[in-house]
Amino acid sequence: MSGATRILQVGIDSDPDVVMVRQRARQISALLGFGVQDQVRVATAVSEVARCAYGRLSGGRAHFALELQGAMQVLVVTIRADGAAARATPLAAGVEVETPAAQLNNAVLTARRLMDGCSVQDDATPGLNVVMIKEIPGGQRIDGAGLNRLGAQLAASPVQNTYSEMQQQNRELASALAELRERQDDLLSLTRELEDTNRGVVALYAEIEEKAERLRKADEMKSRFLSNTSHELRTPLSSIRALAKLLLDRMDGELSVEQERQVGFIAAAAADLSELVNDLLDLAKIEAGKVEMTIAPVEVATLFSALKGMLRPLAINPEVELVFKVPDDAPTVLTDEGKVAQILRNFISNALKFTESGAVTVEMRDADHPGYVTFAVSDTGIGISPDNLQLIFEEFGQVEHALQRRVKGTGLGLPLCRKLATLLGGAVDVQSEAGAGSTFTLRLPREFQQSDDEGYSS
Ligand code: ADP
Repeated sequence: MSGATRILQVGIDSDPDVVMVRQRARQISALLGFGVQDQVRVATAVSEVARCAYGRLSGGRAHFALELQGAMQVLVVTIRADGAAARATPLAAGVEVETPAAQLNNAVLTARRLMDGCSVQDDATPGLNVVMIKEIPGGQRIDGAGLNRLGAQLAASPVQNTYSEMQQQNRELASALAELRERQDDLLSLTRELEDTNRGVVALYAEIEEKAERLRKADEMKSRFLSNTSHELRTPLSSIRALAKLLLDRMDGELSVEQERQVGFIAAAAADLSELVNDLLDLAKIEAGKVEMTIAPVEVATLFSALKGMLRPLAINPEVELVFKVPDDAPTVLTDEGKVAQILRNFISNALKFTESGAVTVEMRDADHPGYVTFAVSDTGIGISPDNLQLIFEEFGQVEHALQRRVKGTGLGLPLCRKLATLLGGAVDVQSEAGAGSTFTLRLPREFQQSDDEGYSS
């Protein structure tokens, strides 16, 4: 073996020799600084392979050496048997239960588990040449002087008889058993820990369920509260609006300029408040599942001209053009016209609010999904940055912007649109970029199906 420094060679010509090889393996590994467990590992691996050399081939040699492999020094144990004196007959009836090949296989498997490496060289057929290696512990290096000392110590360590080796093996077995018991105890405590964790997870799960139930109840209460208070608010608000209108129409006599200004404020505030109350009431109604659907065929051209009429008062900025595009072959859609109009109205009024110049275009497009139609409202306005695209669909979600402070709004329009679209079996979506305009889309099934309450999600 090139680069190897020999420590010891032991012949294996009898059963006691196998015992001796085992003892020497233990002594050498102890002198090389291996811990007790590793000494037992080396001794067991070496004696298992040595037993094959004797049992199968009636003799061989065990060769112990040190070798430098890269930066580390390793103990190399080679067991060779040339097979010249191979046994003609089994040892005795009932003794050789394993075939020789199986015996060698098992020995090599054991050695692989106990050493850092074990290879069978195939240059020795029908004999055997097995090389096992194990790294010297602690990265230490044994030089020539150290090797001489080791040789002297080995010479001074007598090989004991079979009986004392058996005692030694018994002690090793006892300590292996103790180690096993310790591991078993560790495993037991780990199992207990896992069981505790499991119980904890189950308890947490129950807590989450309870919290979810509480949240559901709170949500229900919120809807009920909103709907009750909205009803309570609507009546006085209508009275305020009607009375303000009476005063502004001079039904109750002339107003001074200041009085007209003040009553104008009252009318505008009451109008804003009733918009908020209406949105809240609509949301509460949807959440309570109390929305009624009126499904009928809808002509897109009719829907668009109604929207045009409704939104004309909002399109007062001469810098912004409001364009409706209806394709010639626009299909009839079976849906709830009022709710579709409500969604598009909200999209368009937002587009007009957040566009200072350019155009707001309302159109019907071919949907990318068969059985669906898409309405799109695009503008050339302030746009929305990607991190705000989720926020705008949350209740009261509004984006900070100089223009935002100048326009009116509740932050409830888009969440309402999303809920209404889901009710219609469709979905709303937005594509936008800050400063580059936005496109809000409403995708709807061409024919509304009552059971399809999950909606189409893109
Ligand atoms: P509101 O318009 O009443 O504030 P919405 O829920 O309809 O409430 O809209 C929420 C927010 O989304 C708006 O306040 C605005 O910040 C942003 N937004 C909606 N539409 C547009 C748009 N077309 N361009 C830019 N921002 C928009």
